[in-house]
Amino acid sequence: MEKVRCPICERTMDQHGPKEWPDWPFCSKRCRMVDLGRWLGGTYHIDSPLKAEDVEGFAALADSLKPAAPSADPHREEA
Ligand SMILES: [Zn+2]
Repeated sequence: MEKVRCPICERTMDQHGPKEWPDWPFCSKRCRMVDLGRWLGGTYHIDSPLKAEDVEGFAALADSLKPAAPSADPHREEA
């Protein structure tokens, strides 16, 4: 079987595939977030287990980096 490694921590993922690894191609949510952080600028470091607050922080960060969107955004609910 082909051996694949997580691009972040280089952990070997023997049974590779989205079924065995929900965060494929990363071994974990943490590594997915690390990759996202690098992608967003390479300055965001995660040194502790990921928490829900961290995920929300990333979402807010990603949102803040978007160009000003036209009013018709299906993901945003204006009260
Ligand atoms: Zn990893």
